[in-house]
Amino acid sequence: MSLYKSAATAKGVHQEPLRPVAMAFFFLFLALSFSHFLLLTEQFKWVLVTSASITTVVSFTLMLRAQYLSRAWQRIGIVSILLLGTMNSLLHLWLSQSPEQTTNLFLVIIASGIVLSDRLHWVLLVLLNWAGWLIINAVVEMSMMTHFFFALGMSTLLSWFAHLARRKLVSKQVELLQERDIAIAHEHEAIKANEAKSAFLANMSHEIRTPMNGIIGMIEMISRTPLNDRQEEFVATAQRSADSLMFIINDILDFSKIEAGELAIENVEFDLNQFISNVVQEQTFQAQEKGLWLTSKAVGESYTKVVGDPYRLKQIFNNLLSNAIKFTENGGINVSYNVKNEGDALVLSVEIRDTGIGISKSSISGIFDSFSQADMSTTRKFGGTGLGLAITKQLCELMGGEISVASILGQGSTFRFRVKLASPSPGEETTCKETSSEKPTSVTHIETQPSRFKLNVLLAEDNAINQQVMLAMLTNLGVDVDVANDGVEAIDNLIKPKAKHYDLIFMDCQMPNLDGYETTRRIREGHAGDENKNIPIVAITAHAMDSEKQKCLDSGMDEYLTKPIDLLSLKALLAMY
Ligand code: ADP
Repeated sequence: MSLYKSAATAKGVHQEPLRPVAMAFFFLFLALSFSHFLLLTEQFKWVLVTSASITTVVSFTLMLRAQYLSRAWQRIGIVSILLLGTMNSLLHLWLSQSPEQTTNLFLVIIASGIVLSDRLHWVLLVLLNWAGWLIINAVVEMSMMTHFFFALGMSTLLSWFAHLARRKLVSKQVELLQERDIAIAHEHEAIKANEAKSAFLANMSHEIRTPMNGIIGMIEMISRTPLNDRQEEFVATAQRSADSLMFIINDILDFSKIEAGELAIENVEFDLNQFISNVVQEQTFQAQEKGLWLTSKAVGESYTKVVGDPYRLKQIFNNLLSNAIKFTENGGINVSYNVKNEGDALVLSVEIRDTGIGISKSSISGIFDSFSQADMSTTRKFGGTGLGLAITKQLCELMGGEISVASILGQGSTFRFRVKLASPSPGEETTCKETSSEKPTSVTHIETQPSRFKLNVLLAEDNAINQQVMLAMLTNLGVDVDVANDGVEAIDNLIKPKAKHYDLIFMDCQMPNLDGYETTRRIREGHAGDENKNIPIVAITAHAMDSEKQKCLDSGMDEYLTKPIDLLSLKALLAMY
């Protein structure tokens, strides 16, 4: 394969250096045109000025057009400039009949070696130089023929080496470009595979959330009916299993959110000491059940009010504490923490030390990788997805910190992490956010909610089970509900003669005929009557990504609830209307 061809395969990135060569020739021959005009005798002044001017014009044109020319035309451009150079030198030699003019030919021959990587072009140019020189010498019989013959031979040799070096350079360049293309292709593939994985995980989470809404909702409803002791036990077990399943689904969702760069860290003010004591307290029951102690202590300065993301911080604590409890059989777990002022940030450093089974040297390096578990027997014995530590590490990094682990097999492990927090701005209103284990959606939980609401609600939902769950939950809360099976029915419900006045619409996003987004848009445009243009609309969706929330708000919805709908969030939401 010729070098030009292989360069062409490298996505045409490599360019022959036409522009710099044309530029050099342009300035050189511009100077020559003037100097010929001023210095040469009348006899051949005009011939040489004309030839130098033609070369100037050609090289100037090529210099300007270089970037628009294809590779083939670039090559033709270079060869024609060199040919013009040769013709000029030969003309000098012919007209002046002075052998010193051969020096010009040396320069053209050497230049050919430097700029031409095509073997044929190089040979043609060198031959042309030689042939012209020989013919002129034969016709006009110039002196010092041998002297200049050797000089021409030397310049040809030099040109050959330059030509070889140039070919090597071009082939290396082509190789590098090909390697770069392969690397780019691999990177694209990896990005695509990663996107596909994240999309798959998000989709899976959505698909699982929808039936989970039915399961959790129904368990909740059953638990509110009169049950005997055995039935209550069964329902409690079902509830625990559903909660564990939701825990795994949420982990998968968080993981895909992080991978997709969708996980945003919030900044709210909270009481750090209270927060840590609550988090530890919540885990104490599990530790005590296994006969383990669980203690926590603050070291050094104490910053009570801090600004950060308590929900995500709690996730880090919970992952590490539940692991510590899970992998410890005797002894216990000690949590110590301190907060230091570093520059303009507060840095929270936490150490969670357990006296558990420890982690072997061979497993410890990959412990923070996704889906990694120390060994298969761990999976069999303790279960788990291997996602907890990967998420924990990413969360620490998202909060501007890091996490590390030290462990001795059979003796215990110590996880240390640091995250950046901020101090509340002075004078700002102090609003301590409640840190429940369920992340609130856009609705903030209010502890003192009424248990009955006098509201007329329209529920637009196509899934029969989800209809039942919502219907049961809402009617239990005293809400009067009408159901529409899709967006078209919802709008019909709003505009039919003697239509009820609705205080609120719960809108499923994905529905046949007319989805929730389009239905909302139409309602906001007045398709359901002017009186309903501003009716509050709450999205209910199994998509839990932040981009989905934005999509709902962009279509005109006011609030957002993710499935499975929990009673607290629902009550908090109803309390707003
Ligand atoms: P999993 O859901 O499997 O617990 P994690 O990412 O939380 O996933 O943990 C990955 C693995 O790291 C665990 O399976 C376990 O082998 C090991 N590991 C994590 N924490 C501890 C600990 N405190 N003591 C011993 N091993 C641990």
